[in-house]
Amino acid sequence: MRETFKDEYKYEEEKILQTRNIKVLGAYGTKAKGFGTTSFSLNKTDVIDAGNLLESLGEESIHVKNIWLTHQHLDHIVDIAYIIDNYFGIRKDTINILGTKGTIDAIKKHFLNDEVWPDFSKIQLPNNEMVVKYTEIELDKEYQISQNESIKAFKTDHTDSSCGYIYKRGDGAILITADTCNIDNAILEIEKDTTIKSVVIECSFPNHLEELAKNSKHLTPKMLFEQLKTVKRKDFQLYINHIKPSFILEIAQEIEEYEGDYEPILVKDGEILQF
Ligand SMILES: [Zn+2]
Ligand SMILES: [Zn+2]
Repeated sequence: MRETFKDEYKYEEEKILQTRNIKVLGAYGTKAKGFGTTSFSLNKTDVIDAGNLLESLGEESIHVKNIWLTHQHLDHIVDIAYIIDNYFGIRKDTINILGTKGTIDAIKKHFLNDEVWPDFSKIQLPNNEMVVKYTEIELDKEYQISQNESIKAFKTDHTDSSCGYIYKRGDGAILITADTCNIDNAILEIEKDTTIKSVVIECSFPNHLEELAKNSKHLTPKMLFEQLKTVKRKDFQLYINHIKPSFILEIAQEIEEYEGDYEPILVKDGEILQF
């Protein structure tokens, strides 16, 4: 018999960690009315990217402690600015911004730099801790998040320092490429790690904009499924994200044309991804 509210709450938290899913807070490749940009909630305290934390989490965002960034583009970082600003008075914990060296350097130099937005690593919370701290992570190194959760970054082809992540919980894992125009490293990970049960890959532009996709280091349905042809394993669920909302119908139609044996799910804001 669980006696106190605190026990009940802890029990709920543990129950969530026994299931294997994450929540899409923002699914799309740019902001539009009713469409949020990339972010995933792994658990109460950890998110991958910060494109849509405010709209999706609201005040709950005060519990976010670790933001694992894939890269520094605005659609992946923008809500770092607003969750700090809106809930400064009630936030208790420092926000740890994690990413590769190039990503962290870009945030410090171009975003939270006292010019575009305050440098929150120099500003204290009411409890005297700094609002923000930074942690540089290494590629291909597994970081333990809790007793049964870990995360590992792998190199992608988007910015010089961009990465995707493999998030493990219990005996399953989900791989998220984030923005990339090449999924070679993701494929290596999928082939060697059969605990990966779900894969989220970006698809930003329709086929007729292949040139733009290549120049901006993104994928079209044709590029995506041509690269996926080399994957031997078929026992994973494919999810597709980062679609530019203005092309959503065109891209969805082209995905259907090229998907072959895959039965991809085009993710939406608020969607739960099982793995
Ligand atoms: Zn993006
Ligand atoms: Zn990007």
